[in-house]
Amino acid sequence: MNESSDLRDIKGIGTSLVDKLNRLGLKTINDLIEYFPRRYDDLSSVSPIKSLSPGHVTIRVMIKSIAGRYIKNGRRITEAIASDDTGSIKLTWFNQPYRETSLKRDTLYYISGKYELRYGRFAIYNPIVEAVSDFPLNTARIVPRYSQTKGLSSSDIRRALFKLTDLIALTPESLPIEIIKKYKLVSLGNALYAIHFPDSIKALEAAKRRLGFEELFMMILASELNKSAYENSSAVEISFDQALAKNFVDKLPFSLTDDQRKAAWQIYLDMARSRPMNRLIEGDVGSGKTAVAAMAALMVVNADKQAVLMAPTELLARQHDGTVNLMFKAIGLAGKVDLLIGGMSEAQKSKAHQRILNQETMFVIGTHALIQDKVKIPELALVIIDEQHRFGVNQRQALKLKANTQPHLLSLSATPIPRSLALTLFGELDISKLIEKPSSRQLVKTLLVSESVLNRKLNEIKTELRAGRQMFIVSSNIDTHPKYSVTELQKWANAKFSEYRVGVMHGRLKSDEKDKVMKDFAANKLDILVSTTVIEVGIDIPNATSMLIFDAESFGLAQLHQLRGRVGRGKHPGMAYLVHPDDATPSDRLKALESSNDGFKLAELDLDIRGPGAIYGKLQHGLLDLRVAGLADKKLISEAREAAKFFMIKGLNLLKYPKLATEVTKLQKLTNLN
Ligand code: ADP
Ligand code: MG
Repeated sequence: MNESSDLRDIKGIGTSLVDKLNRLGLKTINDLIEYFPRRYDDLSSVSPIKSLSPGHVTIRVMIKSIAGRYIKNGRRITEAIASDDTGSIKLTWFNQPYRETSLKRDTLYYISGKYELRYGRFAIYNPIVEAVSDFPLNTARIVPRYSQTKGLSSSDIRRALFKLTDLIALTPESLPIEIIKKYKLVSLGNALYAIHFPDSIKALEAAKRRLGFEELFMMILASELNKSAYENSSAVEISFDQALAKNFVDKLPFSLTDDQRKAAWQIYLDMARSRPMNRLIEGDVGSGKTAVAAMAALMVVNADKQAVLMAPTELLARQHDGTVNLMFKAIGLAGKVDLLIGGMSEAQKSKAHQRILNQETMFVIGTHALIQDKVKIPELALVIIDEQHRFGVNQRQALKLKANTQPHLLSLSATPIPRSLALTLFGELDISKLIEKPSSRQLVKTLLVSESVLNRKLNEIKTELRAGRQMFIVSSNIDTHPKYSVTELQKWANAKFSEYRVGVMHGRLKSDEKDKVMKDFAANKLDILVSTTVIEVGIDIPNATSMLIFDAESFGLAQLHQLRGRVGRGKHPGMAYLVHPDDATPSDRLKALESSNDGFKLAELDLDIRGPGAIYGKLQHGLLDLRVAGLADKKLISEAREAAKFFMIKGLNLLKYPKLATEVTKLQKLTNLN
């Protein structure tokens, strides 16, 4: 039996338990060992009966007598008297008649449960029992609690793990011994044992520190290795043409912010080198990332190389195609920019494929449709990923692989990477921040309102519409929510705003229908757009000034911030109403949106409250799934970072640490943003 053996090979656990463990996704012995507890109950302090006070207690007692009887409504009550040197106590179970035969008189047991006053007398009700002669798993110790499935309890899991204690203790060390020593870590075997069977709080803390350190260390090492591999690969040098850049900027309908200028400059420097750029532009909604991306592509097109921009939705891709085409046309590069999305007709698509192949199209903007094998981009030198966290590693990778040599990579994101993550997972990235907002940007005032308050405010809300401006109504759901679905809200809007033109937008519309609705809304042929979150990213309608968001609790803060970023993008300030049912009280989380317009702060807050998955989406969730380490543990992060650097500088050979090598290689693939 070894780590990769099947759970069935464990002697002494039945097939029904194995089945249940399988259902939790645990197949191998290693899976089980790495299934860490969610929390712990400290039942380690055993009290003398004499000094018990109400609450959770553990005692070490001899059973003196035990008997059962039926009470009213057919329930069975089992009562025992137990004693230690200091006194005796009553134990009571309801509907557990097997206790009457399983508990032996004059035998020592650990009993854990709640000591309380019920029906006028003190007793321990429905306690857990374990014989002292057994190794106690569920009482008289720090007891781990696991996430469970139906029919499978924490004590089942502990029972299975208990069969593996010898194996666990002998787990080979995964980290270099120098690092173990330097950071005073306990061995992997000891840590794994203590995480499941902690003998003391101190041992548990040491185990958590060790395992948390290892998680962080592996992530950082993966990221450092990626960085060094990247730095050692070569890319096409894109020479910088200052006159061209100046001409382009002069023709823009606005003047760049200093941050935009700086980001473009950094990109030009990166791309002029013979190693691939790996840069992230991080800027809140409306900070003007598109213009910077267009400037990057410009230099590539000028060098007779191709650039590609992938956006997460067709709406956004179309919009980018529109704006970028205008920008390129202004400097006489019309016809070099083309769109490729799944919603185009087969004929249009194959024409686009051909133009890209023939290098008539030098900058192609699209969606996932770009990834298809059919799409050949022979001179691809720059890959731009808009809203990068919306894409999985494989998708980004697939696009990159279209290039013959390593392309330059530019990622754009409105969801800021908190510092803790920047230091761990994304250490390989160069980051440009667009902090300064274009002067045209208006603050979006946000108000939490109940439905009835909203109804009272309708007239006020209509002031904006009367002035010729437009409004979004957003819901998380197309047609199943009884009140707040797009379908229901459309009816509601038609009734309450009957004097205005209402359109509908959601992901299930056909591509050309979406396009028409968006075009109509952009051309102000619709006053109100009832929509799902498909408009969340990037949609730019400067005349839209108000937004009603229904069922706001179901969204993440970063997402709500993105959503409200859709209004107030023009001359006039924006207003977002987050609507909740009359009988609900909005959470503190939502209240934070009222008081803060800082996307970065909101993302950090959501990271604390809802965890990384809520912010970075499911696609990148796997790699953010730290089981032991907290991203808030700055000291541990900095130690793990130092250790990873040490590993790199010492030139330690990963292959000498097989377990580490396997895990790190896996992580390298996951975190690789290249
Ligand atoms: P995001 O960073 O959210 O992707 P966009 O690139 O879509 O933002 O830009 C938002 C809007 O701001 C667009 O209408 C764009 O034309 C405009 N814009 C971009 N940069 C500037 C600037 N420096 N001054 C004024 N408006 C700008
Ligand atoms: Mg954008």
